[in-house]
Amino acid sequence: MPIEKIVENVYSISDGSTRGNVAAYVLPNQIIFIDSGMNIPLVKEFREKLEKETGKKTTYLLITHTHGDHIFGNQVFKDCKIISSKHTEERMKESLKTNWAPDKIAEMIKNAEDPSTLEGLEIVLPTETFDDQMEITDGDVKVIFKRTGGHTEGSSYVYCPNYKSLTAGDNLFIDSFPWGGDPTANPETWLAALEEYISLDIDYYLPGHGSVSSKNKIQEFYVYLKKVVDLFRELIAEGKSEEEIILEADKIFYYPPRRPQWKELSLKKWYEIIASK
Ligand SMILES: [Zn+2]
Repeated sequence: MPIEKIVENVYSISDGSTRGNVAAYVLPNQIIFIDSGMNIPLVKEFREKLEKETGKKTTYLLITHTHGDHIFGNQVFKDCKIISSKHTEERMKESLKTNWAPDKIAEMIKNAEDPSTLEGLEIVLPTETFDDQMEITDGDVKVIFKRTGGHTEGSSYVYCPNYKSLTAGDNLFIDSFPWGGDPTANPETWLAALEEYISLDIDYYLPGHGSVSSKNKIQEFYVYLKKVVDLFRELIAEGKSEEEIILEADKIFYYPPRRPQWKELSLKKWYEIIASK
C-alpha cells in the first residue's frame, strides 16, 4: 500500500498509483481527503486504513479541480461533504455531457491500463461549492480552501497552517512539465498562485503529480513560468510571429512532460492568453 506519512497528521499517495495524487489531513475530530484520484479500490483502501488507524471518520472530500484523474474516485466519499469551487462544479457538469458521457466513460475504462481500477465508476458531483474561499475549523486546527485559477479556472489549493502543509492539485507538477493546455489555463493567475504558495509558511507542498516537495521546487517552477511569460511579452512587443515566439520559448529548459505533446500545447495556450492582453 503506497500510503506515505508526510508529517504528523498529513498523508498522501503520490507514487502515481492513483494517477493524480490523493492527500489526507487528520484533524482533531475528523479526516479530510483532498482529491480522489482514479484508482477506486486503492482510494477506498486508503480511506479505510486511515480511519482504522486513527479511529476518526472522513467528513470532507475537497476537490482541487475538474480533471478526471483527480475526481474519478469521488464515489468512495459519497457519504461525505464533497466540496469544490463553483467553476470546478460547472466544468464537471459540462464534462458529463461531453467527454464523460456514458459511452465515452465505457470506452475509457475498456482502454485503461488496468480496467479494474475504474470498475463501476460513477461520476459524483460536489455537494457544496464556494466562489473564492472557505474554511474548515476543527479545535485549534484550521484548513483554508482557496480558488486561484492557473492550471484551470477553478483550480483551488488547500492550506493547513497548523501542519505547514499545502495541497496544490495540478498547479504543481514536481519534476515534470505541467499540463498547461486546458481551455481555461492561465499563466498569469498561475504565477500569482505560485507567488502566494511561496509567501506562506509551508514546509510540505503536495503537488497534483510528483512527490511532496519543499519550497525550492516551487520556486524553480515559478522561475521557469515567469521566464516564459516575460519572453512572450518581450517578443510580442517586438512584433514576432506566434511560430517564432513558441520556438524561442521551447528552448527554455524545463523537465520533460509526461506526454510528449504537452509542452507544445501548453506553450501555445499560454501564448494565446498573453497575446490577448
Ligand atoms: Zn489537472
